[in-house]
Amino acid sequence: MSTTKTRTNKRPPVTLEHEFVEFIPDALAERTLYVSIPFATSAHLCVCGCGTKVVTPISPTGWHMLFDGDTISLRPSIGNWGFRCRSHYWVVRNQAVWAGPMSQEDIEKGRHRDRRLTEAYFDEIHGEPKKPAQAAARKKKRRVRDWFRFS
Ligand SMILES: [Zn+2]
Repeated sequence: MSTTKTRTNKRPPVTLEHEFVEFIPDALAERTLYVSIPFATSAHLCVCGCGTKVVTPISPTGWHMLFDGDTISLRPSIGNWGFRCRSHYWVVRNQAVWAGPMSQEDIEKGRHRDRRLTEAYFDEIHGEPKKPAQAAARKKKRRVRDWFRFS
């Protein structure tokens, strides 16, 4: 890898270790990606070092996880715009690769897309149109819970 000549947002990727657990522990270690298959969720501390816990639920409309037998990749990217650091990175083969900062407009677009995907997914399951969600993330969680309860 070449060294950066100009001051850009290019930061070196952060190497993560992964740990399969049943329950996500309360205290997470830095640079460790915890994955709970029974609860279809994963969590880690924001890789910028700010110490914020990032929970990435694994679901058809949430994150998708790829385990290649050695390393883990997550999709889509992890955008911590709710945090002060506003970190944005991809987890690719146990490496947190920094993505560009997102403008507020991009963030809104992303949220809108998430919401549409979620709507489409649940419409498909229930076979009926749903009212548009408002607080996408929170609502999504609630809906996932409802879905589990009713099925
Ligand atoms: Zn952070």
